[in-house]
Amino acid sequence: MMDVFLQEALREIREKGLERELQLVDGPQGARTRVNGRTVLNFCSNNYLGLADDPRLKEAAVASIHREGVGAGASRLVCGHTRAHQRLEEEIARFKGAQRCLLFSSGYTANVGIISSLFGPEDRVFCDRLNHASIIDGILLSRVPFKRYAHGDMEALERLLQSGGGKKRAIITDSVFSMDGDLAPLPEIVRLARKYACWVMIDEAHALGVMGKTGKGLAEHFGVETKIDIQMGTLSKAAGCLGGYVCGSQALISFLIQKARSFIYTTALPPSVAASAQRAIAIMEEDPRRREQLWENTRYLQSGLRDRGFDTMQSQTPIIPVLLKESGLAVAFSRRLLQEGIWISAIRPPTVPQGTARLRLTVMATHTQEDIDELLGKMEKIGRELGVR
Ligand SMILES: *Cc1c(COP(=O)(O)O)cnc(C)c1O
Repeated sequence: MMDVFLQEALREIREKGLERELQLVDGPQGARTRVNGRTVLNFCSNNYLGLADDPRLKEAAVASIHREGVGAGASRLVCGHTRAHQRLEEEIARFKGAQRCLLFSSGYTANVGIISSLFGPEDRVFCDRLNHASIIDGILLSRVPFKRYAHGDMEALERLLQSGGGKKRAIITDSVFSMDGDLAPLPEIVRLARKYACWVMIDEAHALGVMGKTGKGLAEHFGVETKIDIQMGTLSKAAGCLGGYVCGSQALISFLIQKARSFIYTTALPPSVAASAQRAIAIMEEDPRRREQLWENTRYLQSGLRDRGFDTMQSQTPIIPVLLKESGLAVAFSRRLLQEGIWISAIRPPTVPQGTARLRLTVMATHTQEDIDELLGKMEKIGRELGVR
C-alpha cells in the first residue's frame, strides 16, 4: 500500500523533470573533485575559501580527536559542552564584535531554533520572498503570522510594515541570497526597522568569510553591524566545517539557551569540528589573500559569462546563477557539463520559483584562471549546442 502511493508520487516528480539524485564523491572538496569515479572541475561547492581540506584545519581536528575523542556524548546542557565549543563561541563573538555567540549543530537548526523560540502567534515576521528554507521552517514551527515581500523590494516591505499589529515584530532576511548571489539592501532594511519598531535578523550563511573588508559578512560590508539584533550564520560554507551560530546580546544568547529546542534537544557538535572551525575563523582573519583571490576569480567568471551572453541575474558574489528558466533545459545542460568534466548542479523548483530553473555556479579561491577558462569554453560550446542565449 505505502509503496504504491510512493511510486506514484515519485513518478509525478520524475515526469516534471524534478527528480533529484545523489552523486557520490570520493576524496576532498577541491577545485577538482572525484565524483562517480571521475575527477571533474567542481563549480558547485560552497567551500569558497578552500578550507574544507586545509591541512591546518585537519590538524586541529586530529589533535582534538586524540584529546577529546569523536563524539560529544550528550547535548550541550547535559555534559556535551566542551572547552572546544566554548573557545569557538568566544572566538566568533570576538571576531564579529558581538557580546556573545551560541553554536548550533548546523545553520538549519540554528534558524529553526532561533525563530521558533523568539516568535509566536501574537508576533509578526516580515520576510524576503527568497529567504532560505530553514528560515521558513522556523517561521512555520513558531506559528508566527508572516508576510513575504517581493525579493529585495523595499517599497513592498514598507507597505507591509505600515499594516500594524504584532507584539514583537521582526524583519528576517538572507544577507547574500543562496540561489541568486545578490545582496539584501541592509542599510534600507535597518532604516525601515527603526521607523516601524522591528527587530532585524540576518542570515550570513554565504557572507561569512566572503563579504566585508575583513570577511565578517554583509553587515560589515554595509557598516551596519551594530544595528542588527540577530546575526546568524554557518561554519559549513566558507569556514569549510559544520555548525550554525548566532551572535547577539548577552540577553539574546541566555534566552536561546533556555528556549531554543534545536539547541537543547540535540547532541553537541563533535569537539573536533569546533576545533577546526576555530582554526578557520583565525585563517579568515589572518589571511586576506584567500578572500582577495576568491573575489578576483568571481569577477573573472562573472564577466566571462556575461561576455558570452549568459544571464547571470543580479549576482554580485561568488554565487553566480545562469538563468535557463526551464527545468528540463537546466538538467540537460548540467548533464552535458558533467560529461565534459565540469560539475555544476541544476537548481529547479521548489528550491527556486517556477520558471526560473538555473545552473548555480559557485567559484572558489582555489580555482585557477585555467580552470575558469576551461569552464567558460565548455559553457559556450554546450550553450550553442542546446540553443541557449
Ligand atoms: C546553507 C544555508 C543554511 C543552512 O546552513 P547549514 O549549516 O548548511 O545547515 C542556512 N541559511 C542559508 C541562507 C544557507 O544558504
